[in-house]
Amino acid sequence: MLTWKEVINFSVKGNPIPDQRVEKTEAEWKALLTPEQYRITRLKGTERPHSGALCSIHEAGKYNCICCETPLFDSTIKFESGTGWPSFTQPIKENAIKYERDTAFGMVRVEVMCNTCDAHLGHVFPDGPEPSGLRYCINSESMQLEKGVVNEN
Ligand SMILES: [Zn+2]
Repeated sequence: MLTWKEVINFSVKGNPIPDQRVEKTEAEWKALLTPEQYRITRLKGTERPHSGALCSIHEAGKYNCICCETPLFDSTIKFESGTGWPSFTQPIKENAIKYERDTAFGMVRVEVMCNTCDAHLGHVFPDGPEPSGLRYCINSESMQLEKGVVNEN
């Protein structure tokens, strides 16, 4: 299980190697995504709280990257944070997510990106529920829910 210390280490010392990489030009991403999906994932935007379609969904399934379809999170690690954004306590796999120090807006935060295609997903904070203590705060627009049974492991 990932902890805050490991997240910080990834953001400072380098990220785990992804299983594969997907790289496209800005024009290719633009053609593939809606304007809002493009703004959030490729231009590091944020959707308004409580506006996202996946915020209050708790159906079983996997949450895949909207850009490259790589599984990022699943319903077994989703929790209701009350923040207005879909929230998770862990990534689906350690190397699914990449972390970067983000100092925008005069704050020091840890940005969360898809490790396969570098899509901006949201941020991770150390105030999540036990046992990991992590809260991945993710934009709905950057994911699509693939409904189905998820193996608990
Ligand atoms: Zn991706």
